[in-house]
Amino acid sequence: PPLPTKSPIGRLDSTPTFSRYAGTTSFHQLPISKRTKDALRRANFTHMTDIQRASLPHALCGRDILGAAKTGSGKTLAFVIPVVEKLHRERWNPEDGVGSIIISPTRELAAQTFDVLKWVGKYHNFSAGLLIGGRKDVQVEKERVNGLNILVCTPGRLLQHMDETPNFDCSQLQVLVLDEADRILDVGFKKTLNAIISQLPKRRQTLLFSATQTKSVQDLARLSLKDPEYLSVHEKS
Ligand code: ADP
Ligand code: MG
Repeated sequence: PPLPTKSPIGRLDSTPTFSRYAGTTSFHQLPISKRTKDALRRANFTHMTDIQRASLPHALCGRDILGAAKTGSGKTLAFVIPVVEKLHRERWNPEDGVGSIIISPTRELAAQTFDVLKWVGKYHNFSAGLLIGGRKDVQVEKERVNGLNILVCTPGRLLQHMDETPNFDCSQLQVLVLDEADRILDVGFKKTLNAIISQLPKRRQTLLFSATQTKSVQDLARLSLKDPEYLSVHEKS
């Protein structure tokens, strides 16, 4: 279910001392903005999970990432933080248009990611939109989509905007994220995803995360990944 907007993590790790990740590296050791650190602290996130610790240093350097870690391991922050930080460093403003696109395979996952983005970005000035179709009025979206900096979307709805929204412009895209990449790269989305990718600038950072490193994820030529970091994190216990 979607997390509550206020203090979404409160019930999980409300006392930092008892954090499941105490003893691992803290978020404060990362080269990230005070705004993001404040938001993390506000939500009682203190220490990184394994996949976050493995991938964030690379992602924050602008490298392409192929990250695999099981469900529940904290992959959302592993891409939301680099997205927010990239636009922060580029001094992105609401009028600069689409700087990042985060693609999720389902509306529910997109909505959950959007909630995380909202609280991580709460002290930043970016605009963000959840484009997932369903009952939401696409006409209203079309009027607003060009004023959004970060799009969290399902493949179908994103392609619909690319095809139908006048002046839809993602030529300045900085970071593309595929969450649950193995599912998005699956045959069911193949046509849609290829159509999307063909309209995106090739010069960009690409972050792929999934629970498993499947064959389709390794079929990466069409995503034009540049020398990606392969990061796979498995439970030790
Ligand atoms: P995944 O995408 O890998 O399935 P999520 O990003 O959805 O995992 O995170 C799973 C849960 O872990 C969420 O409730 C999230 O708030 C929590 N979480 C993520 N990172 C941390 C962290 N560094 N410290 C404490 N809890 C975390
Ligand atoms: Mg996830």
